[in-house]
Amino acid sequence: MNVVEHIELLRKIRWQNPLENWGLVPTMGFLHEGHLSLVRLAKMENDRVGVSIFVNPAQFNNSADLEKYPRNLQRDLDMLAAEGVDLVWTPTPEMAYPDNFQTYVNVEDITQPLEGEKRPGHFRGVTTIVAKLFNVFQPQRVYFGQKDAQQVAVIRRMATDLNFNLEMVVCPTVREADGLAMSSRNARLSPEARQDALCLYRALQTAEALVQSGEQRASKIIAAMREIIEPIERANIDYISIADPETLAEVAEIRQHALISMAVFVDDVRLIDNVLVESKF
Ligand code: AMP
Repeated sequence: MNVVEHIELLRKIRWQNPLENWGLVPTMGFLHEGHLSLVRLAKMENDRVGVSIFVNPAQFNNSADLEKYPRNLQRDLDMLAAEGVDLVWTPTPEMAYPDNFQTYVNVEDITQPLEGEKRPGHFRGVTTIVAKLFNVFQPQRVYFGQKDAQQVAVIRRMATDLNFNLEMVVCPTVREADGLAMSSRNARLSPEARQDALCLYRALQTAEALVQSGEQRASKIIAAMREIIEPIERANIDYISIADPETLAEVAEIRQHALISMAVFVDDVRLIDNVLVESKF
């Protein structure tokens, strides 16, 4: 497995055989089974697989969150080598954003609500680094997790609008046995908070069951979700949303598909989770 920092060397390896198809999995490291599910699908669908590991300062609107973000490069590299990954890019912040860097990619409307509203500047950082990754690797396919549902919608929009010549593959959310969505941030939860963090999944399950039983009113579904989370002392809801999966505009009634998504602080750890639902009524 090639592990490189410098873009020139990465490009050399990438283009050794121009006929080979490349799949790219962008990550911020501290890998878990969620990341590995993307890597495994990329392995199946491409001749070569590249992974980037970069905790991107530009997408953190909170410097404490950036500092506390868990990191363990050697462990990550061991995991990726075991999966048979071909190339890992581990740039330093100075390499990704050299002196005098001043070009950013901004997707407009769909970055405004939800994560965009609560984390100003977050998506500008995401789309800028992802556009750079697409340019550097020039992959045929790129792999993203449904866990970050708004990120998927935003990057899809960017790839279409800027004519990136690649296929975007979205993988389902991988969960712990008890339902908690896997996340690098889970490592920061105390044992008690880890238990309380299950309220996100329980709230989503309740929402799904309500939709399946015919409830279409977003207000009723959100109220039921709040009833599950609010009694938990360590948990503080940042937002709960029921929105159109493509435009991310809030809906009052679920007709056909909807994205139910949420961000909840458990102690000081901000967790997100979501589910796509379909109303048959
Ligand atoms: P991150 O390192 O958190 O930036 O995540 C890198 C990629 O892995 C993103 O496309 C995420 O959506 C995806 N990912 C993170 N957690 C999960 C999960 N539990 N299941 C599936 N994909 C995930």
